Amino acid sequence: MLPIERRQQLLKWLNQEGSLAITEISNRLKVSEMTVYRDIKPLLDEKVVIKTSRGISLAPILNGSSNSCSYCLKEMNNRHPVQIITYDLRVEQLCCPHCGLLRYKDIEKDVSQIICRDFLQNSTISAKIAYYLMDADFNLNCCQPQVLTFESLKQAEQFQKGFGGVVLLFEEAITEIHKRMNGSTGCSCKKDSTI
Ligand SMILES: [Zn+2]
Ligand SMILES: [Zn+2]
Repeated sequence: MLPIERRQQLLKWLNQEGSLAITEISNRLKVSEMTVYRDIKPLLDEKVVIKTSRGISLAPILNGSSNSCSYCLKEMNNRHPVQIITYDLRVEQLCCPHCGLLRYKDIEKDVSQIICRDFLQNSTISAKIAYYLMDADFNLNCCQPQVLTFESLKQAEQFQKGFGGVVLLFEEAITEIHKRMNGSTGCSCKKDSTI
């Protein structure tokens, strides 16, 4: 297994099980604890995971802001928010890429910038050049259909190998979400799905 594959496997476990001890991870992956530490270092640095008394777990909400999503009005409690900055310098917070893309479509003419986070590194990227992984088997507990954003195609594809789904470009992702939201398999976040 490559380090990135181990990292993906690890994220999958953490997503399912909450937290894991380092010894447990080392046993399951059949690598030394030192290797586990090396593997998780970037995840710790980027605050994707945190150290706990038991070992490591997925990081909780990044900032304690009590803002709500400008699209679905859900409280912002997600590690993957999207920001839209309009030409008149209004900043809108969206709970996840799903809402970010739908909101963008609504107010496209006014948008000066749309910013999202790389799913693995948590770095800030322009949503227009991001890669979108849809239907991956990794639950963010936010809006459906869910999309994960990646800075590089390579990472999106590597993640796709572990978790399935399809990789889309910005415009494709908007079209796809929009299409599905108008269908019967709706999302729980907004009622008026027929336009
Ligand atoms: Zn939302
Ligand atoms: Zn959401």
